[in-house]
Amino acid sequence: MGIAMTRNGAISLWDTSSAEEDYINPMVEDATVDVAIVGGGFTGLSTALHCAENGLSALVLEANHIGFGGSGRNVGLVNAGVWHPPAKVREKLGDTFGPRFVRRFGEGPEKVFSLIEKHQIRCEVTKTGTLHAAHAPSGFEDLRSRYKEWKRLEAPVALLDRDEMAAKVGTSMFHGGLLDHRAGTINPMGYCQGLARAARGAGAEIVTGVRAKKLRKDGTGWTIEATGGTVKAKYVVLGTNAYTDELWPNLSRVFTKIHYFQLATEPMGNRVAHILPERQGLWDTGQIMFSLRRDMENRLIIGSMGTIVGSVGQGLSHRWARKKLARMYPDLGPVTFEAAWHGQIAMTPDHLPRIYNLDDGLYTSIGYNGRGITTGTLFGEAIAGLLTGSDPSDLPLPITDVATVPTAPIMSRLYQTAFTANQILRSL
Ligand SMILES: Cc1cc2nc3c(=O)[nH]c(=O)nc-3n(C[C@H](O)[C@H](O)[C@H](O)COP(=O)(O)OP(=O)(O)OC[C@H]3O[C@@H](n4cnc5c(N)ncnc54)[C@H](O)[C@@H]3O)c2cc1C
Repeated sequence: MGIAMTRNGAISLWDTSSAEEDYINPMVEDATVDVAIVGGGFTGLSTALHCAENGLSALVLEANHIGFGGSGRNVGLVNAGVWHPPAKVREKLGDTFGPRFVRRFGEGPEKVFSLIEKHQIRCEVTKTGTLHAAHAPSGFEDLRSRYKEWKRLEAPVALLDRDEMAAKVGTSMFHGGLLDHRAGTINPMGYCQGLARAARGAGAEIVTGVRAKKLRKDGTGWTIEATGGTVKAKYVVLGTNAYTDELWPNLSRVFTKIHYFQLATEPMGNRVAHILPERQGLWDTGQIMFSLRRDMENRLIIGSMGTIVGSVGQGLSHRWARKKLARMYPDLGPVTFEAAWHGQIAMTPDHLPRIYNLDDGLYTSIGYNGRGITTGTLFGEAIAGLLTGSDPSDLPLPITDVATVPTAPIMSRLYQTAFTANQILRSL
């Protein structure tokens, strides 16, 4: 029997500010289930929830704790769509999967919001949209063409000029922006913990602090040797994404690992009332992207690509965040940060996610390119559907062969160097 509790040793602001409870449940005995799911993030928990709802017995094995990976470290932008504009997705995925992918991802936030509503997940949900901010005139041109494409598909998006953007963000530094009314923000750890609660409510089991160490095909099913016991399952789903270890050969080599860091201020009360007054989450068109949002306690949460260098109260990232806020909001005054953290993102060469059928009854979805709230939720549901009889041709994208990225380790290091250099330059 697991216990619900509030935990010390938080991995992010969201870990401490989440109104949902953590669930800690060590593995005490061997198990036999229909589906064993490795990883307790959005993907694993959505898979568990939907498998359990579809009548399969499901067990999630999480090496650390719920939301330990990208899911609990995220910015919390519930985006509609992926990095590519719709036409590019169609070009890459073809006439059958392309339009379906664009439609399902366009509806992705609605799926997330409906799960939040259905399971009464306490995750600071706001449905006021997201703002893609133009860092330069070229960025605004890119947003204008995205706007035209989404408009053609009758999506509720608005192109904002400089003044309209200034009113939404509280600074005139952007050259305009794209407001996507389908999107919104959440406390990502709250959503993840809420999904865990919903999955358990539907009958799924979750064990935490349990690493899957070996995976072996066993007759018609699978055996997982884990810290704490052995699991036998007909199907296995790997929801390990950017935190993939060596459990399955080469899976950690199908993406380039990059980092994204964030710092959160202390609650700032009315001093920040003019900043993102409608609480949209914002990210920009710069090559080294940055993000900004305001949570329900009036903390500003600012981030960019790379790792935290230094600590919450001093060092390079702390200086970067202070300078960035001072440049955007010269009248803001002194700022104190209360949390600093980073997490890993799995980037694929074409910036599209993957669903792999690694072996009979063994599936994974991976490589979300920093778009995991909707992707993990949708793919978890899709894989659960696959295990209960849906046709693979109904998936949001085709199952492809595993392709490793030989340059990934070196690219990871190069990106990390460039991101740190950016922090240094922008802190001067
Ligand atoms: C800093 C940051 C900001 C982001 N911002 C956004 C955003 O604003 N919007 C958005 O949509 N997406 C965002 N993303 C991306 C998103 O967070 C991820 O795509 C998403 O969380 C992936 O979910 P997942 O469940 O697939 O994997 P994860 O949440 O990474 O979970 C993988 C889990 O697997 C566990 N695990 C690994 N190996 C084993 C093993 N052998 N045995 C047991 N457990 C194992 C890990 O402990 C981990 O908990 C961001 C990511 C980061 C890092």
